[in-house]
Amino acid sequence: MTGLRHTFSRRQFLSTAAGTVAAFGCLPQVLAGDPNKSRKRKTILSFYCDDTGPYVAGAKAFQIFLDYCAEQGIKGESSVILGASGHCMSRQPTEEEQAYLKQVKRAWECGIDTHMELMTHRGLFDFDLNHPPENAGHEGLWLYEPAITVEQYEKYFQHIIAEGERAGIKFTGLTWPGCGCEVCKQRYKKLRGDGHAKPNTAMWKALLNLARQGKFRGNTVPCFFDASEKDFGIHQKDSDGKYAVYDLMPNARDNFGIWENNTARVNPDYYITEDGKSGIIVRHVEAGAPYCIWYAHWQGLNPGKGVGWQAFTTVVERIKKHLSERVVWMRPSDITDCYHKAGGWNFLDEEKK
Ligand SMILES: [Zn+2]
Ligand SMILES: [Zn+2]
Repeated sequence: MTGLRHTFSRRQFLSTAAGTVAAFGCLPQVLAGDPNKSRKRKTILSFYCDDTGPYVAGAKAFQIFLDYCAEQGIKGESSVILGASGHCMSRQPTEEEQAYLKQVKRAWECGIDTHMELMTHRGLFDFDLNHPPENAGHEGLWLYEPAITVEQYEKYFQHIIAEGERAGIKFTGLTWPGCGCEVCKQRYKKLRGDGHAKPNTAMWKALLNLARQGKFRGNTVPCFFDASEKDFGIHQKDSDGKYAVYDLMPNARDNFGIWENNTARVNPDYYITEDGKSGIIVRHVEAGAPYCIWYAHWQGLNPGKGVGWQAFTTVVERIKKHLSERVVWMRPSDITDCYHKAGGWNFLDEEKK
């Protein structure tokens, strides 16, 4: 799908904007000189898998992925893009799309969240026409446009949610569809120059309103926008009592082949080495970080044609072998739910009795 191709890392792109990342404020206590104290809290493990769909590797590949996650007890997220092919796949699905949607419906029971990576990952969809109009502006950029109102965002998200419901799918949150096309690049640059480096706050408000209406699976809406290995954190974007919207930033990158399905971008050791002594997951655990969340792309991760699948299973095995006492797998929506209910990371203290 050309529509899903990124010409460069969207994460790198926005991280160049000054002041987009707030410091992490909830690190658990790590007492110097006493390694046992730093292990008091378990570290949450999770992942986001972007660009998931039936077109790259078929529905069967997604089934294998879900079966694997369920069997291993690992938890994370895998996005859905209902209009990725130019029409809404929940209206008149092809056989392959039908088979895929059937799998998406069971993702939750396999431990996997389903974020909308908006409707097309490209042009804004026209729900009456059942396709994006010619030259439609791109969805990811639209989330940053300062002139868009709460009502406009809410209506668009509401349409996507309704199409999900048609297929029996309830969304857990939102993943920002990054885009490296020339038009988006230029416009993002202009927005940054004008002081609009962050998403439009009306967008967070629209998500909160929909959560209040019970349109998402939980009371909290986890979102995935930016990522950083060092300046990561969970950021509350809006809230009202038990409802809240969070940007839950990954703190580990994609080394499972990225969107290019590129063997040069596969490296299980980046996460955890065979001896379990180094790698970013180990570093976050050792540092007493509340979580280690990485992101990946279906193009590289899928068990059908993905060059990163074997590395992914290797990483899961190494975690099991070396870190099982020190980590707990959670899907993003459970992380934001627990965090919000507890008012912080203290719920992790109760993990270890
Ligand atoms: Zn994507
Ligand atoms: Zn674009």
